[in-house]
Amino acid sequence: MNQPLIKPLRKGDGHRPPAGAGPQNTTIGFVNLGCSKNQVDSEVMLGTLVHEGFQLTGDPQKAEVVIINTCGFIEEAKQESINSILEHGRLKKKGVCRVLIAAGCLAQRYQGDLLKELPELDGVVGTGEFGKIATICRDLLAPKKRQQRLWVSEPPYLYDADTPRLRLGKAHSAYVKIAEGCNRNCAFCAIPIMRGKQRSRPVESILAEAERLAAEGVKEINLISQDTINYGVDLGIRGGLTTLLRALVKVKDLRWIRPFYLYPQQVTDELLDLYAGEEKITKYIDMPLQHINDRMLKRMHRLGNRAAIDKLVDRIRTRIPGVAFRTAFIVGFPGETEEAYDELKTYVTEREFDRVAVFLYSDEEDTSALALEEKVERAVMEERRNELLAIQEDIASAQGQSRIGSVMDVLVEGPSEETPLLLEGRHEGLAPEIDGVVYINDGTADPGDLVTVEITDATTYDLVGHIVT
Ligand code: SF4
Repeated sequence: MNQPLIKPLRKGDGHRPPAGAGPQNTTIGFVNLGCSKNQVDSEVMLGTLVHEGFQLTGDPQKAEVVIINTCGFIEEAKQESINSILEHGRLKKKGVCRVLIAAGCLAQRYQGDLLKELPELDGVVGTGEFGKIATICRDLLAPKKRQQRLWVSEPPYLYDADTPRLRLGKAHSAYVKIAEGCNRNCAFCAIPIMRGKQRSRPVESILAEAERLAAEGVKEINLISQDTINYGVDLGIRGGLTTLLRALVKVKDLRWIRPFYLYPQQVTDELLDLYAGEEKITKYIDMPLQHINDRMLKRMHRLGNRAAIDKLVDRIRTRIPGVAFRTAFIVGFPGETEEAYDELKTYVTEREFDRVAVFLYSDEEDTSALALEEKVERAVMEERRNELLAIQEDIASAQGQSRIGSVMDVLVEGPSEETPLLLEGRHEGLAPEIDGVVYINDGTADPGDLVTVEITDATTYDLVGHIVT
């Protein structure tokens, strides 16, 4: 497993394994790959399996069933998923493994082809079938002639507040998936193929889950979906994200609410003012812009143009003072000329975002970009990515230095992963797992505490300080 298992999320006794209902001695090993959205799917599958009486093990050698929740985002992610299947397939010869299952995005995308190409697989489970994972395991374990099986359906599965969930990661920070799928058609993106059209969870369902998480000791919830700004459109809610945030800030013991993946459109002043005025909503905007050159934005089938994006970034920074802005760009999209890239480079240099992720364009089946001409050589893409990251590194270093001497609230994560002599935490401008951390070298606190820290030093992406309260 790439992450340790944390205590199961329960709602009263309702999520205890029903006595005698499940294969109490069957051990399951689980591998979680890909993004935070996949992590939530993994947590739902794990919760369902525990609820149905399966035993979980962190040691794949001891697992009778191994489930790999795969990622199918880009070439590198697909290869990692396939390598994991091959590696765990070897356990069927050496270990106790009897059943090997590939679930998730890669499974949804390649379906029967995956079974054909990887004979070590016993089952392939698409993104619409997670709710059936326990039944699927029982089916594949039943003594009968071995036959590879496929479970793929539409639309993608979307959990609700009552679904058992066994959370991975820190006890005080949780991801909450508010919608699934995407209605846009960005030319490079296969997500709508794997996850279907957008379907939002009702506000009440998300609120009930947030209340349950807060009662479990969660202090920070991270709202995820493919297109968070569009939340609720399919339910007929106008300004859905604003409505949802207004409901969530009332959850008593939550300290931070952090929405991810805002598309740079439909961002209302009402929403920005809510960010600015409500202390529980983190002053943190995560908005992948993908490019800034007008011709590239058009070829990518992105809505809006450079002028609109410029105006929006200014508006966000003016309306939310002190906001941390994270964005992402793709380099090497077909047709990205030297001039188009230079425009992006200048933009990154001048705009001074707090965090910038840079992805290499990757040809993906069934996307409209696949047929585009003027492909960019991989070596050129890598050069462009490295250059942008180097520029951003300088910006981040300067921003870190400017923080020295300031005092800020920090959510304590626990002992540092670098050394147990330090504590580690995050201020509201640092998201879990993807951004830097604040190292605390003086003072004591428990995981989940919100403490005041004075910053005394900074490295490129991390800060160092001591507790002052
Ligand atoms: S908005 Fe995001 S998920 Fe939707 S198609 Fe574009 S890149 Fe893909």
